[in-house]
Amino acid sequence: MKQYYIQYHNADKMGYLPDADSQDVKSIRLKPEIRDNLFFFTKRHMVNKAVGENCFMIVGVRGKSRRSDFYLWSSFRIDSVKRVGNRYNAFGTGFNFEQPILLNELPGFSEFKSACANFVTFQNISKHQFCKLLVEFTDNASLELAQLKEAKTEDLLLTALEELNSRMQHVTPEKMVSVIELTLRKDQTIVSLLKQVANYQCQFPDCCSEVRTKSGQNYVEVAHVKPVNEGGQSILGNLIVLCPNHHKEFDYGDLQIREQTLSRLNGFLNGREFTIDLIGAT
Ligand SMILES: [Zn+2]
Repeated sequence: MKQYYIQYHNADKMGYLPDADSQDVKSIRLKPEIRDNLFFFTKRHMVNKAVGENCFMIVGVRGKSRRSDFYLWSSFRIDSVKRVGNRYNAFGTGFNFEQPILLNELPGFSEFKSACANFVTFQNISKHQFCKLLVEFTDNASLELAQLKEAKTEDLLLTALEELNSRMQHVTPEKMVSVIELTLRKDQTIVSLLKQVANYQCQFPDCCSEVRTKSGQNYVEVAHVKPVNEGGQSILGNLIVLCPNHHKEFDYGDLQIREQTLSRLNGFLNGREFTIDLIGAT
């Protein structure tokens, strides 16, 4: 079972907030990204047992009327621990919450704080009810991070394709097919972005082809729907991610395209009708 730990950072005592320029927590926006250099230190030997487990960083800041505000600051997996003198340095992979989450008013917080002896030391909190809430915050933030990453990949793809399209404008129609094929073979960025955006799945409807590669990814290929010089389409609408079988069927089978736009491809492949929403379509 997954184990969860907390590490406390007392901003007043330490004199700084982790990864923040400002001292005003309410206005802080941390960079939402996965990092592999999150770090803390503790004197507790038990941190060695926590390697590979999850840890929440809780940051305490003196609030109004001398009461401390406690924030869920970051969430990460502890990757390694190194002893330095009388303390242990722990390094992890994870993220800061874009906006640190104030915990004080949440249900069960006071009880949680007492049970953790005001968070003074690094400790295991897996069994505490409040832990579930921290996990939930982490899961939600992870989901947002994944969506952000996906959006970034699509942006990169569109930019790469736009550049390619503008290069293509200077190519004569006769040379178009060979140039595009050559470019695509050389331009692994576009090929890999296309596969990423397609989530390494064949785009042919209802295809469940799975060819697992050593890296764990599903094997797919990037194919041309039809020679570019026939339709004069932008390359964006003419690229498709297919499994090896559908790729060969596209190349050697009876392919009849009925409609090809930048966003949609409809036709018959060996008598079977198909419609595919193309990548990059908005
Ligand atoms: Zn397929």
